[in-house]
Amino acid sequence: MLKIKNTLTNELEEFKSTKNNRVTFYQCGPTVYWTQHIGNFRGMTWGDLIVRVFQFNDYDVVHVRNYTDVGHLTSDTDEGEDKMEKGAKRENATPQEIAEKYIGIFEEDAKALNLLEPSFKPRATGHIQEMTEMIQELIDKDFAYSTDLAVYFETSKAKDYTRLSGQKLEENIAGAGSGDMNDPAKRNPADFVLWFFKAGKHKNALQHWPSPFKSPLVENGEGFPGWHIECSAMSKKYLGETLDVHMGGIEHIPVHHTNEIAQSESANGAPFVKYWIHNEHLTVDGQKMAKSEGTAFSLAEIKEKGFSPMALRYFFLQAHYRSKQNFTWEALGAAQNGLEHLYNQIRQLGTELGDIDDDFRNKFLEAVSDDFNVPQGLALIPELLKFDLKNEDKLATLLEFDKVFGLEFKAVLSQPQEPIPDPIKKLVQTREEMRKKKNWAEADKLRVQIEQLGYTVEDTIYGPDVKKI
Ligand code: AMP
Ligand code: ZN
Repeated sequence: MLKIKNTLTNELEEFKSTKNNRVTFYQCGPTVYWTQHIGNFRGMTWGDLIVRVFQFNDYDVVHVRNYTDVGHLTSDTDEGEDKMEKGAKRENATPQEIAEKYIGIFEEDAKALNLLEPSFKPRATGHIQEMTEMIQELIDKDFAYSTDLAVYFETSKAKDYTRLSGQKLEENIAGAGSGDMNDPAKRNPADFVLWFFKAGKHKNALQHWPSPFKSPLVENGEGFPGWHIECSAMSKKYLGETLDVHMGGIEHIPVHHTNEIAQSESANGAPFVKYWIHNEHLTVDGQKMAKSEGTAFSLAEIKEKGFSPMALRYFFLQAHYRSKQNFTWEALGAAQNGLEHLYNQIRQLGTELGDIDDDFRNKFLEAVSDDFNVPQGLALIPELLKFDLKNEDKLATLLEFDKVFGLEFKAVLSQPQEPIPDPIKKLVQTREEMRKKKNWAEADKLRVQIEQLGYTVEDTIYGPDVKKI
């Protein structure tokens, strides 16, 4: 049984898919105007882990992660400049060139972090028609209205508009925005934009398309979509009107996801999402890692400092998605060392594959199925390594766990370490026995003896890690 903490109900619920063993999963993807920082990748990695846990539970996952390449303004609430335009100006390029460049970097980074390839990676600019159709439907059903400057969603008409965040409409100033458009015809400050006409402060918009909507200030309804309608239209196209799971960063609860629900349910007349999952942020000194704070590091910077993408993935695995995780270089260094030790232990198990241990597999399944508690799954590794099992069975069980972890244990086996000679192994084992008896003096003597024979021994959570000097 898979349990999920559903943001919509704030309860831990048993997962039931709408269709047999199929799961439809949508994760809000990056706005591709700049290199994504490792905070963004924490969310992306957790999307990957959640997909893997569903697969480990024998579900077929239809996984959509979009690219936002138009319409996301510098504030999530319809204020400021289009992020893609900002990127284009910064680099003296077109928004399309910017999108190509940053999708390329994102995909390379995603691969380095061993994120599974989604089933669909739709780009917003490739789905303008689906968006205008949905907006038209909202107008026809009287959930939306046009002014000279934009088409707005009329929030007071949505059923239980703020139910995801639990805010009151008048408190939901975060959902309001668009104040800088100075639109006197906007009916309620909380109404949000579905379509921006190429007029007013957006009259010089670089990306624009004709639309069926009418404004006296533009011809052919020329303009561009709002960010929220993009996810509603693309999720519908690839996954249908009702999705099993929708995921995104925690800051999307009061604005972006609240608006997605309002648009989709009003247009489709069907429930939008059964289970909402929100991941907490990666922080630096307790604050969200962000470009604007000057605390954002890219994967390239991580690599430049000598850390591997896999060490970062291992670091992400150590904190539950609903907890904040604080980033420090020391913590990443500890993760890199920890992973190296783990890889060494795996190499010591040989290359022969035995049987998956049922008890450990069940314990693991239970852990990761409890609201995706991957850190608890990780804690089973040292237990397994110390357990009285044949090496080949340990290896088979670890490879089974790795279907969720994605730490490439299998690849480690093809980089075998020189085998540790038996006499050294014996000394290490005796030293372990001495340590268990708290006979530290004897254990230290054995360490010196091991070192004199050309080997080091380091004590890790996975057991003693022995290396040739
Ligand atoms: P953006 O490119 O700004 O649309 O952001 C892409 C995704 O990264 C969003 O889903 C955000 O929730 C997420 N995100 C941004 N900063 C962080 C952070 N510090 N930790 C975790 N996720 C983040
Ligand atoms: Zn979205």
